[in-house]
Order: sequence, then C-alpha cells, then structure tokens
Amino acid sequence: MARIPHVIGGEKVDTAERTQPVYNPATGEAQHELSIASVETVEQAIAAAQEALPKWRRTSLTKRADVFFNLRQLLKQRTPELAAIVTSEHGKVLSDAAGEIARGLENVEFASGLLHLLKGERDEQVSTGVDVHSIKQPVGVVAAITPFNFPVMVPLWMIASAIACGNTVVLKPSERDPSASVFIADLFREAGLPDGVLNVVHGDKVAVDTLLDSSDVKAVSFVGSTPIAKYIYERAAANGKRVQALGGAKNHMLVMPDADINVTADAAISAAYGSAGERCMAVSVVVAVGDVADRLIPELTSRIANLTIGNGTDPASEMGPLITREAKERVEGYVAGAEAEGATVVVDGRQAQFEGDGFFTGVSLIDHVKTDSKVYLEEIFGPVLAIVRVDSYAEGLELINSHQFGNGTAIFTRDGGAARQFEFEVEAGMVGINVPIPVPVGAFSFGGWKDSLFGDSHIYGPESINFYTRSKVVTTRWPNPDQSKIDLGFPSNH
Ligand code: NAD
Repeated sequence: MARIPHVIGGEKVDTAERTQPVYNPATGEAQHELSIASVETVEQAIAAAQEALPKWRRTSLTKRADVFFNLRQLLKQRTPELAAIVTSEHGKVLSDAAGEIARGLENVEFASGLLHLLKGERDEQVSTGVDVHSIKQPVGVVAAITPFNFPVMVPLWMIASAIACGNTVVLKPSERDPSASVFIADLFREAGLPDGVLNVVHGDKVAVDTLLDSSDVKAVSFVGSTPIAKYIYERAAANGKRVQALGGAKNHMLVMPDADINVTADAAISAAYGSAGERCMAVSVVVAVGDVADRLIPELTSRIANLTIGNGTDPASEMGPLITREAKERVEGYVAGAEAEGATVVVDGRQAQFEGDGFFTGVSLIDHVKTDSKVYLEEIFGPVLAIVRVDSYAEGLELINSHQFGNGTAIFTRDGGAARQFEFEVEAGMVGINVPIPVPVGAFSFGGWKDSLFGDSHIYGPESINFYTRSKVVTTRWPNPDQSKIDLGFPSNH
C-alpha cells in the first residue's frame, strides 16, 4: 500500500512513526497508509512555515496574485483527477466532488484580488499637518485544521485567503481523506508558491494539540464537529491565538403552506441526501407548517424510490457511501431508535441492500419527530431527513431559534412578506429563501451562529482578510523645524 506523506518545506516527508489506513468507503478496503505526525514532525512543519514567512510577506502583491491566477487554471485543468481522489477516499459521487472543487475555486478567485482586498485607509489632515493611514499585515504562521466532508473546499476556504494575506500555513487535513490536501499542495507549488509557505501534516489529536500549543502559530482556523470546535477555540484562545472554529449543524427548512410542493420536494431531497447527508449545510429537518407534511410526504417518498445509491465512480450513482463503518452504524442507530422516541419511520434506509463491504446505507425519512428526541436534537450527519409538524410560522420559527445549532436555514414560500420576516427574525448565520443550501458565494463570508461557530469571525470572503491580518495605523507629520516646540499636553486634533 502506498503511504501518504506530509509536505514540509516543499519536501514529501514520510516519517511513518505511526500509520493508519485510509479506506475506500465504496469497497470498505484500506487503500493507502497514512503517516501520523509526531510532535517533532509537526514542529518541523511549523519551523518550515516560520522560515518561509519573512520572504513570503515581502513578496510583492502582484507576484502573490500570480500564484492564485496560475492555481485557478491548474485546478480547473486537473479537476477530474482531483475529483477522482476525493471520490476514492470520501465516497461522494464524482459530480459532487467536482462541485466541491468549483466552490473551492471561488476562494482562489477571491484571493487573486488581493491587491484590492489588502488596501488600507487614509485620512488627510486629521490635525493640522497630520495624516493617518492604516495597513493590513500578515499575522504569521496560520494553522488550518479541516474535516473529512469537504477535503478540497474547506482547506481552500482557509489557505487561499491566509496565503494571499502574506501568511504561511500548516494544514492538518482530516485523516479520513488526506490525499486531496497533498494534491493541492503540489498544485500550489506548480503555480509558483515558494516552498514552506504551505505545509501539510497528517495526524490526530497529537498533531492538533502541537499546533494549538506552539507559540509560533498565531491564528487557528478550524472546521469540524461542535465538541472539537469548542475545544480548539478554548485551547487556542487560552494560548493567546486568534481562532475561528466552525462546528456542527442541524439545518431546518421551514415550509409554508403556500410553497410549491414539487419545488420543495426536489429541494428537500437534494439537500438532505446529497453527499449522503454529510454536509454541514445539509437540510436535516423539514418544519412543515399546517397541512404541508401530508402533501409533501408522498412527493418525497416517490422521489426516494427513484434514487440511485452506489459507488461514486459510477455516473449513474446519485449518492455514495458514508465515510466509515462507524458512521454507518451511528447513522443507522438513530433510525433504529426513532420509533421508540415516538416518531414514524416512513422510509427506513437500513432496509436497502448493497453488494460488497462498502459503508453504504439507504436514505431515511422520519415523520412526526418529537422535538425532545435524539433524532431531532443531535447532528446525525447522514442521509436522514426528519419532519416536524407545526401549526404556524411562529411555532416553526420558535423551534429553529431554540435549537442548539444555527448554521444554515431556509424558508420555502411564495409569500415575500413571510420570507422577509423570516430573514429578519431567524437565528442562524446563513439563510436561504427558496434555496435549501445557502452556502454564500466566495465574495461573502460563511459562518453559523450559536454552537455552529466559536469565535467572532466568519470564514473566507471579506471577514477572512481581517482574520488573517493585523491592522497597523500610522500617524504622520512632516513638521517645519522652525515651528517645533515642547508640549506636554495629550495630543489633540487641532
Ligand atoms: P471532527 O471534529 O471529527 O474532525 C475535524 C478535525 O479535527 C480533523 O482534522 C480531526 O483530525 C481533528 N480532530 C478530531 N478529534 C480531535 C481531538 N479530539 N482533538 C483535536 N483534533 C481532533 O469532524 P469530522 O467528522 O471530520 O467532520 C464532520 C463535522 O464537521 C460535522 O459535525 C460537520 O457539521 C462539521 N462541519 C462543519 C462545517 C461548518 O462550516 N460549520 C463544515 C464542514 C463540516
């Protein structure tokens, strides 16, 4: 089995101190071995990033931008290859993997506008003969720690802006599907990025804790599950770093009685079961107002019957397997427990039959879900759609606003007034109006509320420029030596 190396200072480093298998979830077979970094290996990567920093931050903005223009072309050309890597380790279907790369490209395109993004501000004559301007400077070495579910897009959410701002990076991708990060590092190098600006270390808690505790790491971007996000936030902040830690989700789709039922059913199926529900913006709860559920459920079940689940490499497949055998067992456990919690299992994904040892499960639809049940309260992160019935918009809104998570949400309606009210009142970071997965385009920033994000900065887009830079404000006077005098008073603006 080939071993997946770290990338440190431009070199492929295969320490093999500890290894663990990387599976193909569609077959259940181990296909690669992964080097798991020790403290020393991570420290080596931080040192490489630290060494590359002075030169990279001095590199002209035009030269930095060139890297992103080149990278954009390379990513477009190599999309089929990269998508195949994603599918073989994550399991999502090839078209979905290509979609993730296209969304990640938005962050590369955003970063290529860095001349504009890094512009400071200037005020002339704030006091007589005094001008003030501000500049944005890199923070230093940035740690980027990413989840398994978007092995291309989420690393690009972080590293594109971080590098554009003049920082250097140590990326610690998910150990479940790490090859995409090595591929991206190779493309960055081909695009002209100097060695050491982007380093990749593979590993687990040992690697992450080393990054969180290193005094050379100045900022931490994390995306993953809520308990780990909270841990990362607390430990990195206690160590004096700036940190943004994005966590889990339970995204509700509020369906008003006037919504078009066909449009709603198509959107709910796509957003609940795409990528086997392993998306932080997946719709996992439909909040059906009034008689919506009785009209919607037949439309959902007829569509479910026609879904094709299989190996992501098969163009006919619409949904692939889950990431691990444990994930399959965990997801199926929620479905198994749903009846005892008072819900009705309309479609039971456990009954779907699959050949081979892949980590497949079928899709599940659960109606009459109680709001105090585990199926409702917890993030399942699998192809399970819960339906909660409510009598009114107000009851639905209250439900959404009381939930622990506030990542994304959506309203389906033909009533502009209701949509506007929802936008105003709902407590979530990203809102869709007849859009089930409202992931903002790269010119905006992404982030949830409540336990879906720890820290005060959203990721990518304009907020990332602030996160990855320190501002400096310069006050200037060019005095006339003839008028110079001592003044012990506090400077005032006259
Ligand atoms: P995870 O939290 O298990 O892992 C994320 C990263 O943290 C990985 O790199 C992993 O190696 C590391 N990690 C795991 N356990 C750790 C520990 N004890 N100490 C230190 N580091 C540790 O998440 P996952 O299963 O890879 O990804 C799925 C989760 O990510 C879901 O909860 C999903 O909602 C969330 N997610 C959120 C967003 C968002 O934007 N809010 C986006 C994608 C995924």
